[in-house]
Amino acid sequence: MGFEWLPTKNYKRHYICLKCQKGFKRASKEDMKNPVNDDFSNLINEYYETASKTDIVKYINARHQKIKVSCPQCKNAMLQVHYDFEVPSQRDTKSWKHLRETLQTTIDYETYMQWHRIKLQETPPNTPEYKLLKLNLEKLINHVTSKKNS
Ligand SMILES: [Zn+2]
Repeated sequence: MGFEWLPTKNYKRHYICLKCQKGFKRASKEDMKNPVNDDFSNLINEYYETASKTDIVKYINARHQKIKVSCPQCKNAMLQVHYDFEVPSQRDTKSWKHLRETLQTTIDYETYMQWHRIKLQETPPNTPEYKLLKLNLEKLINHVTSKKNS
């Protein structure tokens, strides 16, 4: 009996530049320099500890702006994609046009909404904390639905 040990942290993050129509991989080692910024639960905890008077959507956006990875060619912000995302060929203008229309944000709001849903279940109702969590969850939902409709 033996286990095959999977090397840890050997994955690469995948990005695409919509302008250059290219995909890029970035070693996680580089990301390790910025581990705090990458961790969404840190982000949300920091929000509630230090910035809960700020609009949550604006806060998340601002924090994600900071961790944006810029394209090595054109210096524009790239979009992070799933590791098995298939990058279209550079000449495949049609697919890239479609991506430009559909992939507008790399922010996974669903993760933040889910965090709030769990937190709400743990928080006693009729407390200021509960009200704030509920309000922020509604803000996130509104933000996502307004994006889909526009
Ligand atoms: Zn580029």
